[in-house]
Parts: sequence; structure tokens; C-alpha cells
Amino acid sequence: MKRGYWGAFGGRFVPELLMPPLLELEKAFEEIAPSRTFREEFDGLLADFVGRPSPVYRCDRLSEELGLNLYLKREDLNHTGAHKINNTIGQGLLTKHMGKKVLLAETGAGQHGVATATAATMLGLECVVYMGATDVERQSYNVRRMKQLGAKVMPIESGTKTLKDAINAALRTWISDQKTTHYCLGTAAGPHPFPAMVKEFQSVISREARRQMLEKTGRLPDVVVACVGGGSNAIGAFADFIGDAGVRLVGVEAAGTGEPGCANSAPLNLGSPGVLHGTRTMLLQTDDGQIMGSNSIAPGLDYPGVGPEHAYLQATERAEYDLAVDAEAVEAFHKLSRAEGIIPALESSHAVAWVLRRAGELKGKNVLVCLSGRGDKDIDIIEEAGLAKEGASR
Ligand SMILES: *Cc1c(COP(=O)(O)O)cnc(C)c1O
Repeated sequence: MKRGYWGAFGGRFVPELLMPPLLELEKAFEEIAPSRTFREEFDGLLADFVGRPSPVYRCDRLSEELGLNLYLKREDLNHTGAHKINNTIGQGLLTKHMGKKVLLAETGAGQHGVATATAATMLGLECVVYMGATDVERQSYNVRRMKQLGAKVMPIESGTKTLKDAINAALRTWISDQKTTHYCLGTAAGPHPFPAMVKEFQSVISREARRQMLEKTGRLPDVVVACVGGGSNAIGAFADFIGDAGVRLVGVEAAGTGEPGCANSAPLNLGSPGVLHGTRTMLLQTDDGQIMGSNSIAPGLDYPGVGPEHAYLQATERAEYDLAVDAEAVEAFHKLSRAEGIIPALESSHAVAWVLRRAGELKGKNVLVCLSGRGDKDIDIIEEAGLAKEGASR
């Protein structure tokens, strides 16, 4: 297989000016990241700073109710509350080894900004986070967290003032300051080597989970389920199971409100192949190739593209990709909170929702859900949408 490609997907479709920093990064990923020094440092930080390994927890109450064995890979227990920190520490450490001083990041909901600011500060790097001005207003809590951690937040006033404008601004700075900066992409998408590199840093999820499931149940899980935004927690949760043909891999995309023709964040289910942000993948586009606006109640899933390896796993039928609508995710959010004492991120709630809906066909199975993050950040969204649930009921 050609480097940076998964079948017809992946690649590096970028302007000439971006090639030097991408080639430099590719070299660092191939030469520095596999070295023993790097591995030991990375593993040490994942253990002592992030709190890994994250546990696998069996949901006794929900398992009984659903007639299956539901296990959660607890990425919500990581420092900063989600899987994103695995990737930002990996890229931050690589940046340091490359002799650069600044981490640049784009962020929509602010979660990746917080994870990048955290890793940068811990590693002694500067951090500049680009964020659409609209998102800065919507996500003031995360903006305040980034500032508290010492990051510089740059509100972007151009275009729609959201994620894609922030990406463009971060890329412009990377091009002009490539000697001193690294662009820390937040998901397993973008031009080569980002999808392969982010997968590598997130694959700790399935490396741990494989061992933990064997220890707890004596065998591999029957099904592994993860939500898919850009695809980083899902590819990390799938990685070490891809070679095990008996393990069913399920990615769950956000279908938006579910009304006919509604905006969604489900390029694998509802999109078509094309090029976005430097990679050939499945994306939401009009017939003449204009990128469509995406939507989901889960801010972290709200992206019109997806990592190229997922497009390949779908095309080769090694993984399947299904949908969950906003209301199902909210129901799963309440269900897990009330049955298990775990408030899941609205993103992760999409994966839980799939299990709730398909429980009938999963009877007796060992189902492992990647609980990508915790939902404390989403309580305001639930309340503002009038979807909060009062005490005492299950
Ligand atoms: C950002 C985020 C996601 C979506 O990103 P992926 O790259 O698809 O994993 C999912 N869950 C949580 C908690 C997030 O913060």
C-alpha cells in the first residue's frame, strides 16, 4: 500500500507551501516516534500525567436490563476528561524532540484546545489556539480553561467564524512560522502523516482494552463500538482489533435531528468521496463539490469530513458505520447517568445509543463501548435545550 493511503483514501492534497513542514513531520514520525527514548517518555507521561491505563468497567445494571455484557473503556477518566489528551501529548512530545517551541491548534468546541494547552504547558511549550469568533462566544468555559493554562486564544473573525476558518488560520501560521511551530491536528484526519500519527497515539486505547477484556472475560469482545467525529477515538479503539476477524467493529456517526434532509455529521453514511483538508475521504458535499455545513447536538462530532482510514474500513467492510440521532444520544446520556453513575459526553452517548437501540440483536454478547469523554461539559447544552431530567427517576 502506498504510504499515507488506505486504498483510494488518504494522501496529501495540499498547497506546495505546506509540503516542507509535512515532510519534516513525516520524518520525525518515522524516525523519532518509534525510538525507545520517545516511547518510554510517552508511556511515562500517559501513566503519570494522564492516569493510564484507563479502566474497563462492566455496567452491571445496564447489562442486566439489556441482556448483554456492556463494558466501557473509560477514556472519560483521563486528565482533562477525554481521549484527546493521548494525541496532544504524543504530538507535543514529538514537537519538543523536533526542537520546536510552539504548538498551534484549531478548536471548535474547545476540547482539543484545552487538551493542547494542557500538553503544551506540561511540556514547556507555548500554545496558540485558533478559534472561530462564534465558537469563542459559545464555548466560553473552555476558552477560560485554555487561558488559565497559559494558552493564547486567537478569535477568528473571517468566514463563518467557526472551525473551518480556525483551521485555515492555524495553517497560515504554520506555513509562515514553520521553523518554530508545529500544527497539532486534533483528529485522525488531514494530510499524511496526520491520520497515521494520530492513530498511533490513540491506539493505546485498544492496546489496553484488548488486554483488559482478556483478563476480565477470558476472550476478545464480540463487538467494539465508538462514536465517529473526525474518527480519532474510534480508530484508537479499533486499532488492535482490526486483525481479529471475529471482533465486530462499529462506528456511530451523528445524524443530527433526524428530520428528513436535516444537517448532520455523517459523511460515511450520507456523504460521498472527495478531498477535504488535505485528504481524500468521505465528506458532506453538494453535487458540485461544495462542502456542506454539518450539525450535531454533540459539539465534538460536528465536522463534515472523517479520517480516511474509516472510509477504507467501510469500503472493505471490515468495520460498519451506523447513525444515531440527537434525541437517541440525549436518551443514552440520561440512561448511563441514572443507571451507572457515569455522565457520558454527548459524543460518546451516540455509541451508547447504538447499543441501546440494537440490544435485541446483541443478546448475550460482550460489547465494549469506547466512552470517549465525560459529559460534565454538556450539562448546559442539555439544560438549554430543555432536555434536563429531574431527580428520582431512572
Ligand atoms: C472531540 C471528541 C470526539 C470526536 O472526535 P474523534 O476524533 O472522532 O474521536 C468524541 N468524543 C469526545 C468526548 C470528544 O471530545
